[in-house]
Amino acid sequence: MTGAGIIYQCPWCKGSIDRGKDYWRCQGCGHAFEVRRGVPILDIGVKQKAEHQPLWAKSPSSGSITVDDPDKFLDEVEQKGWRVALGNLWGASSTALMRTVAANRVAWKYLLDINNSWKALDIGAGTGGVACQLAKECSVVALEKSWCDAAFMHLRAQQENLPSFQAIVADATSLPFEPNQFDLATMVGALEWVPFGWPEKPPREMQLQALREVCRILKPGGSFFLGIENGLYFGYFLGLPEVHTNIQFISLMDKKQAEILSQDLRGRPYLELTHSKDEYIELFKEAGFDEIQPFWLYPDYAFIHYIIPLDRPNIIKYFIAEHLDPRDTEPSLYRFYRFLDPSVVSNHIQFFGFLAQRPKGK
Ligand SMILES: [Zn+2]
Repeated sequence: MTGAGIIYQCPWCKGSIDRGKDYWRCQGCGHAFEVRRGVPILDIGVKQKAEHQPLWAKSPSSGSITVDDPDKFLDEVEQKGWRVALGNLWGASSTALMRTVAANRVAWKYLLDINNSWKALDIGAGTGGVACQLAKECSVVALEKSWCDAAFMHLRAQQENLPSFQAIVADATSLPFEPNQFDLATMVGALEWVPFGWPEKPPREMQLQALREVCRILKPGGSFFLGIENGLYFGYFLGLPEVHTNIQFISLMDKKQAEILSQDLRGRPYLELTHSKDEYIELFKEAGFDEIQPFWLYPDYAFIHYIIPLDRPNIIKYFIAEHLDPRDTEPSLYRFYRFLDPSVVSNHIQFFGFLAQRPKGK
């Protein structure tokens, strides 16, 4: 299980990498990258030590494994199987566990014509909810900042007999691959956490850098799928806490004010940025993508029941009139969807999916 013919490069000097059993070694700068429990650690930026809980793991929405003793947990994964071990950790019927197994996590694959010759990269792969399911259809590299998550996926892939799967530890802003290799890249619930590896740097810049890296490693004409929250979600105007920070109104505020609020309330910077639809599209364009299509993932990007194209007002109207169930929707939200113009609704829904393409000619 080595991830079909992917060519790796050193995240420090861009040199070629020789792959060994215990170390991967850069032919350029000589840097040795440890391989721990089958997972090469090709990381730069702030180290997320295995024994420390990654910062983003504190968010209930993150889906990252947090344990005091990762090796003990991974031994249990080996002995009892990944699903039992994760069930013991999170609860056998927990939402977090469902997120790692739900078939509709990858419902967006129907927007593409994936075949088994494809090479896909899942960035911020967590426990493999997307990556391990995608690996039933094509070759997959699953990239994680957290070593424990990556080592978990390595075992999960072995136990699921996935034919071509490689888990690695790396930073999204410096992808350890030579350019022009992947047919597909995905980030679902991950771009907003990228700035945590670079707390001293402007967060939007680091998100942009990650998107530029995606563009670089895709083949010309390759596809990128991004699943992410809307910073201008209508619920936030009603006072629902912003889901990454648990702070009311923060994603609606001017960035300077939001920074002051974050420092006041929790003594650390506001890094986990989300944006509006138009701001995401601008980020994609700046990073070099074209053919950017926005979708509404409903009810949630982890459990996708509907994929509604946001540039088709009649489809938005149809979905709201015929499929949105008032019994499942908070009343003021339901009235918002029901009574406002689709062009307004499309800017204030909760979960976006964006499909974008690396231009063919470049
Ligand atoms: Zn190097």
